[in-house]
Amino acid sequence: MTPAGSLLTATALRKSYGPTHALDGAEFSIHPGEVVAIMGPSGSGKSTLLHCLAGIVTPDSGSIAYAGRELTSMNDAERSALRRTEFGFVFQFGQLVPELTCVENVALPLRLTGVKRKQAESTARQWMERLQVDELAGKRPGEVSGGQGQRVAVARALVTGPRVIFADEPTGALDSLNGELVMQLLTEAARSANTAVVLVTHETRVAAYSDREIVVRDGKSRDMERVV
Ligand code: ADP
Repeated sequence: MTPAGSLLTATALRKSYGPTHALDGAEFSIHPGEVVAIMGPSGSGKSTLLHCLAGIVTPDSGSIAYAGRELTSMNDAERSALRRTEFGFVFQFGQLVPELTCVENVALPLRLTGVKRKQAESTARQWMERLQVDELAGKRPGEVSGGQGQRVAVARALVTGPRVIFADEPTGALDSLNGELVMQLLTEAARSANTAVVLVTHETRVAAYSDREIVVRDGKSRDMERVV
């Protein structure tokens, strides 16, 4: 059953790697524009859950419904089209293309969907302004700091107007001040665009930017009451 108004819902997810039960009945749901943090100890199944939700890993069993469509019954081409148009991704180490300038990196997802260079870079610059990195447009990733690079990566994730951003430890390689700035700008920009954010983190300071926390333990997940 899909909860009313939910954008992305996973039910009874199971995924094993040999004898390891990475997911053992995990549940998840997120509403449009909501920011949800997935927390839990290392090895508990957080990344596996994120990768299943994003259609990167196929679970052994269970259901993942995105906007009323079942991800697990789509073929690879349908899933990758969905990832290109509806989802954005932010990883721990930015993963910007080193040979491209920052504005070319941010424009890249648009270029891949056929948008002309001028239009793509103009949209890219607007997102870079929102993430306060517009002055880095002409620099290459090797010439900017880790925090600046992550903000460029967030702009790249938002540039296509996705409905969900998947962020896997997006501040994991940053000091706390830069981590806070990335989280603040990521959540502000996502909320203003009504983009949902699925955030994997092991830091409560980072999870504090979410609307709701889900804790994964031994491949099982549950909603956590926030202690304020
Ligand atoms: P977390 O993100 O919470 O650290 P993961 O989802 O990465 O946890 O991993 C959950 C469990 O599944 C761990 O025991 C991990 O070693 C195992 N696992 C994850 N991915 C693979 C893989 N590709 N091959 C083998 N084992 C894996």
